[in-house]
Amino acid sequence: MRDGYLVGFETVLMTDHETHSYDVLVIGAGGAGLRASIEASAQGASVGLVCKSLLGKAHTVMAEGGVAAALANVDERDSWKVHFADTMRGGQYVNDWRMAELHAREAPDRVHELEAWGAVFDRTKDGRILQRNFGGHKYPRLAHVGDRTGLEMIRTLQDHGIHQGIEVHMECTITRLLLDSGRVSGAFGYEREHGRFRVFKAKAVVIATGGFGRAFSITSNSWEYTGDGAYLALEAGADLMDMEYVQFHPTGMVWPPSVRGILVTEGVRGEGGVLRNSEGRRFMFDDIPEPYRATTADNEEEGWRYTQGDREARRPPELLTRDHVARCIRREVREGRGSPHGGVFLDIAWIKDRVPGGAEHIKRKLPSMYHQFKQLAGLDITEEPMEVGPTTHYAMGGIRVDADTQSSTVPGLYAAGEAAAGLHGANRLGGNSLSDLLVFGKRAGEYAARFAADQVETSVDQAQVEAAVTEALEPFARHQADGAGREGPYQIQFDLQETMQDLVGIVREESQLEESIERIRALQERAAVVGASGNREYNPGWHTALDLRGLLAVSEAVARSALLRRESRGAQFREDYPDKDPELGKTRLFVRRAADGGLEIERAPVPEVPDNLQQVIEENG
Ligand code: FAD
Repeated sequence: MRDGYLVGFETVLMTDHETHSYDVLVIGAGGAGLRASIEASAQGASVGLVCKSLLGKAHTVMAEGGVAAALANVDERDSWKVHFADTMRGGQYVNDWRMAELHAREAPDRVHELEAWGAVFDRTKDGRILQRNFGGHKYPRLAHVGDRTGLEMIRTLQDHGIHQGIEVHMECTITRLLLDSGRVSGAFGYEREHGRFRVFKAKAVVIATGGFGRAFSITSNSWEYTGDGAYLALEAGADLMDMEYVQFHPTGMVWPPSVRGILVTEGVRGEGGVLRNSEGRRFMFDDIPEPYRATTADNEEEGWRYTQGDREARRPPELLTRDHVARCIRREVREGRGSPHGGVFLDIAWIKDRVPGGAEHIKRKLPSMYHQFKQLAGLDITEEPMEVGPTTHYAMGGIRVDADTQSSTVPGLYAAGEAAAGLHGANRLGGNSLSDLLVFGKRAGEYAARFAADQVETSVDQAQVEAAVTEALEPFARHQADGAGREGPYQIQFDLQETMQDLVGIVREESQLEESIERIRALQERAAVVGASGNREYNPGWHTALDLRGLLAVSEAVARSALLRRESRGAQFREDYPDKDPELGKTRLFVRRAADGGLEIERAPVPEVPDNLQQVIEENG
């Protein structure tokens, strides 16, 4: 038998893996991973880049609305200070202030750098990068290319990176990090196509694996986002942070059922789209929270004026923060004023009569949205309103990192992009993720390379590799032991997604969270004995069985953190504690693996914002 065709557990030889050696190994090839790889390589490190799917197929490529950076091209009043204040306010002041500062200061340079590397952007009349409005940003700030900004970013980063000698390992899933005397020494994974194993020896590792939306049943995230990075870090001894803050984007498709959850970009509202209930009313005017009253239109006329391009007018309430808009939509649906398929209406067609070019303008500004609805729902958005509802979108929580270097609490282990926590606090502003992954991808690559340069050769412990092989093959071994009676992974994954959606969703409550934790524990017991049939050649059942461990651990971290946070803040809304608690607002939650194998949660103070930056917030908030 040839290696890749081995069927079961007993037949595997420990020689059944390839070994690769790098200074820096980057796990994940979205924007954060690519930017980290480019930087590490520019520092002279040899770099290996591993991704679970094909290169170029990552969340970053799906990003539509744009990348936030205070370029001040459309409104000269914008500056890093206003961007910083907006990010802190959006994050409800529990952001890592230093990350928010670095992000706001460095994002313009990262966008200009991308432009210099060949990225195409929509332009202002005088040829500068055009910027659009987005929720929570005081001024038009999102550099964009229609609604295909992520595609352009990935294309540019790939083109640039490919010439730097980075070795790419596609369709390879990492399942374990390897350690040498407490510091990271590499990673272990399997090839999705042939099921062969790979060992990566590395002096430093950057995790850039994105989020974990697949823990929920309605999500904009694709199949890859099973929380692998957070799980890998947790098992290696690193801390996770802010896990209770999961962003539910207000506008996902709700119909037909097969496409439920697919994102409808905030760019639609940024271009003038308005939300209505079944009575035809713009319900977002009903509830404008105090901190936003001064900047938000409070009547239809003012809201119209804004959407027609009067930049002095106050912003329409459709562009309030995502958590708020999502809860308002949920309220309309619950109170019987929803659309036929359980959402509300999002209307961009109305701007047709008010903009030069009419329907063509909409198609040009939102080409992906036009095709998405035409092809998936048979609906022309230049003629009819869309039906939309909330969808699980983004993880603010993730691996705890140092703001400047992006190093985790494990020496040699770094994290960037959606896999890392801190920048966005309790809620992320749209557009701040693409800038996050550019700013902190670069920093992670730079500091990982510096760390690697200071290391002598690392060694890979064969016992750890053998344990990783055994663990990866356990689902087959169990299936072989008792055949068809063994439960497969899909029902467990489905049950988890339903649990998270129903009990740990947009609105949370003590008894429901407690029930979710009970259910997750029961699912963990089922997952611990899950089986996989067939062989190791492209076998989604086996892959899902392995993904379950991370999905369940991350879900437990989310539910338990949400239970401990007895307050409502940003994306965490507790029906039983609907207000902010000033004391809890000074506390963040770190999650780590305890000695008994369970998860332990430590309460730690949110570092205080220094006076000079507090002043920036007060002057620009
Ligand atoms: P990703 O781009 O998600 O890449 C993760 C990589 O990790 C992939 O290559 C994956 O294959 C790999 N991976 C995962 N697990 C493993 C493993 N175990 N082993 C090996 N590889 C692994 N943000 C904005 O700022 N502006 C927007 O307009 C915007 N629009 C969005 C639209 C959609 C539909 C979605 C889903 C998100 C949007 N976001 C937007 C959010 C933003 O796109 C993501 O947060 C961001 O792209 C994450 O980038 P990343 O590099 O951290 O991870």
